[in-house]
Amino acid sequence: AGPGLKVISTMSVGFDHLALDEIKKRGIRVGYTPDVLTDATAELSVALLLAACRRLPEAAEQVKNGGWTTWKPLWMCGYGLSDSTVGIIGLGRIGQAVAHRLKPFGVRKFLYTGSCPKPECAAEFAAEFVPLMRLAEESDFIVVTCALTPATQGMCNKDFFSRMKKTSVFVNTSRGAVVNQDDLYDALANGQIAAAGLDVTTPEPLPTAHPLLSLKNCVILPHIGSATFATRSTMAVLAANNLLAGLRGEPMPHELLL
Ligand code: NDP
Repeated sequence: AGPGLKVISTMSVGFDHLALDEIKKRGIRVGYTPDVLTDATAELSVALLLAACRRLPEAAEQVKNGGWTTWKPLWMCGYGLSDSTVGIIGLGRIGQAVAHRLKPFGVRKFLYTGSCPKPECAAEFAAEFVPLMRLAEESDFIVVTCALTPATQGMCNKDFFSRMKKTSVFVNTSRGAVVNQDDLYDALANGQIAAAGLDVTTPEPLPTAHPLLSLKNCVILPHIGSATFATRSTMAVLAANNLLAGLRGEPMPHELLL
């Protein structure tokens, strides 16, 4: 945009796509859209988790391709949430909204990790703050809802997946770069973990020939976390109001404080 750029308005809560150092240096103001997309993204995270653990795309495909024959006791079996341990990586707005929605499924224990314990946020779920690797070892379901930062980039890697149980399910609705995709592919292909659900990938869009798309136990969505009509409309209005306020030199409804 050149040297005249004064205000940036992003229609997202994530700001990992912005060159924050340069923005700060130039004194550019930034508006973003937290809160208004929390419910829609948490809902999608739960949908993706259920799709992955109960193998919904694979099972629906069987109906179409003639794979559905006589009833067989173990055919299309997956893993359920009842009596499970759920690990949330990043118990922020979306992480808490995911836990709130998963609790009524009969989850026995919630674990979470982040930069520090958040007792007020964790109280509703009696969630326990644990180191990342303990979360990997003990969780039956892992949901990644943290921000992408230098500290979280590539955090879910070979070491992380090797600590997970063979029966565990991994879900990422944060940003693709939190995951080392080659390591995730190996973990899924070798049966190191049971299944994965990804709403975000590297790159986006994911090339149609990408190895992850050849796996039956990997459900991939095209970054649709906040994609409800109502949410996108609210995000658009908020983004426009942030921009207008910024241009007028007024306080923004949601300004990113750098
Ligand atoms: P919040 O800022 O409320 O939460 C971010 C969380 O990330 C915080 O709880 C923070 O924990 C955690 N975090 C930061 N560093 C680490 C770390 N090293 N290890 C573990 N956790 C860490 O943001 P939101 O919940 O509103 O959004 C979260 C992210 O979700 C966004 O940044 C965006 O990338 C993604 N998103 C994806 C969407 C989609 O369509 N799939 C839609 C909307 C958002 P702490 O405070 O302890 O540091």
